[in-house]
Amino acid sequence: MQKAAWSKNVFPILFGIFLIVFLGVKEYMRIPDGAMHLSFLSIGQGDSTFIQTPRGAEIIIDGGTDLSPLEEIGSRFSFFQRDIDLLVLSHPHLDHLAAFPEMFKRYNVKRMLLARTAYDAPRYQAVLELLKAEGADVIFAKPGETIMVEKDVFLDVLWPKPDFEMSNVNDASVALRLRYKNHSALFAGDMEEAAEQHILALGPSLRADVLKVPHHGGRTSSSIDFLMAVAPELAVISVGNDNSYGHPHAEVLQRYSDLKIPVWRTDLQGTMELTWK
Ligand SMILES: [Zn+2]
Repeated sequence: MQKAAWSKNVFPILFGIFLIVFLGVKEYMRIPDGAMHLSFLSIGQGDSTFIQTPRGAEIIIDGGTDLSPLEEIGSRFSFFQRDIDLLVLSHPHLDHLAAFPEMFKRYNVKRMLLARTAYDAPRYQAVLELLKAEGADVIFAKPGETIMVEKDVFLDVLWPKPDFEMSNVNDASVALRLRYKNHSALFAGDMEEAAEQHILALGPSLRADVLKVPHHGGRTSSSIDFLMAVAPELAVISVGNDNSYGHPHAEVLQRYSDLKIPVWRTDLQGTMELTWK
């Protein structure tokens, strides 16, 4: 009888200890590991990239077309992590911001980078309202400026020019180059050829190891001059399965193939994770 009572008591204690150790090890594994982690999330026909810096800052570029980025991001956050250090909105289209309202609810957004865009869509306006209520520092994109995220981690702002005559909101996408030591990645939102040519004319170096392909591989982006200036070793296309836009366009894929730039597609290959040491 005594033995049965003992095992009845000890089992929950052992289980509790096991659980604490298991969760502790799991959390320990997430502690910043001194490397830069980039995750180009597979979230359907939209964009969302999650970046964890060597010292543990969390950067999110765009918020997808529905709530699916939250699941991907949540699985990469530590249990105790409640801060998003920098949230970037490339431009106000819904396939780039759908999860933002929920992110404001779940996390403490410290800084947000976006373009000054007069765009009247209700979901975009709602994000601006939430941003105001959040009290985050707001940075409006200005080409030529560099944001220092932490030691050795920089974001060069390349676009849009504040006085740019915008007839197409895609062309007012925030373009950024992330740099860490000798690594780099270029993010260009949904910009199309007009903006690509304007950036080239502005003259900053666009060279980057990784190009997040503009506008989901649409036909009117990824112009040859632009690709040659970036000269990436890898191109990543965030695109949904069987999407109604026909992204990525066959001509664009051919351009990458002609320039011998390998292409990763989130619709075919899923989330792309890169680690820079
Ligand atoms: Zn888009």
